[in-house]
Amino acid sequence: MSKLFKLSLAATAVLMAAGAQAQAFPAKPITLIVPFAAGGPTDKVARDLAEAMRKPLHGATIVVDNAAGAGSTIGTAKAFRAPPDGYTLLVAHIGMATTATLYRNPGFKYDEFEYLGMINEVPMVVVGKPGLAANNWAELSSWIGQNKNKVNLANAGLGAASHLCGLMLQNALKVELTTVPYKGTAPAMTDLLGGQVDIMCDQTTNTTSQVEGKKIKAYAVSTAKRLSTPVVYKDLPTLDEAGLKGFDVSIWHGLYAPKGTPAAVLKTLNDALKAALKDPDFVKKQEGLGAVVVNDARVNPAEHKKFVAAEVTKWGAVIKAAGQYAD
Ligand code: ASP
Repeated sequence: MSKLFKLSLAATAVLMAAGAQAQAFPAKPITLIVPFAAGGPTDKVARDLAEAMRKPLHGATIVVDNAAGAGSTIGTAKAFRAPPDGYTLLVAHIGMATTATLYRNPGFKYDEFEYLGMINEVPMVVVGKPGLAANNWAELSSWIGQNKNKVNLANAGLGAASHLCGLMLQNALKVELTTVPYKGTAPAMTDLLGGQVDIMCDQTTNTTSQVEGKKIKAYAVSTAKRLSTPVVYKDLPTLDEAGLKGFDVSIWHGLYAPKGTPAAVLKTLNDALKAALKDPDFVKKQEGLGAVVVNDARVNPAEHKKFVAAEVTKWGAVIKAAGQYAD
């Protein structure tokens, strides 16, 4: 065999191996960590996303791992420590930003993940247990005022969206309620339905079917504008209109990978995320629950990283003003 022929055979082998590697991802199931309980808002978006990302990832299996607890820090820390090979991903939310202020050491650094992009934005609603005496926001706020030593406010742990909204509510109403933390708002909703807790501020993705079924009461929305959809919320005031001036909270979710995940794998995942967010079934399911799926510009990893850094500053100030932070 001539030297030249041997060389070109070797070069072809290297190229083929590289090609096989590039095509090979994903060659095994991907684990998608959800840092909250199954059946709740973060779990719902993650499971819908896993389904929608299968097609662009050539039918890959994506398995959801609910690593719930401590306001999302347990699962997020688990993803932070996972091998950076693209086979462990994380769906996280605003807790990525709030925990930076609330925890001395949450077990991860929010800015040391690979950012794949934002997924959605979800409004929140103040809801109450069945049979609660108050039928509108004015009645609810005076009921809270009169019963402040007895009212239980459920949340999904320190750093969760429901914790942040509840903190802002208490601050605005100038009350300190008994808070009851759960591993997610799915189990919190079970207890709200059972009357073990009184009120909660939760994402529409977890409240819509209960409000539509008149199983729980809804009082006000957390966003600056009223919601036109889902229609069950259309007559609810915003908390700002209801007198809590400047109240404006909307919960985002994003997709992340451990730091050091190869660039080619990140590109494949980002492309798959973009495709998934345009999947009509995904969009329909999300919109039906009140979530807004973001556009391509917000799926951009660098943009999302900038956005999260700004959220750390924004909510850090709110949390500190409410007197809750790790110094
Ligand atoms: N996202 C949480 C969950 O899925 C709820 C929260 O953050 O309040 O349970």
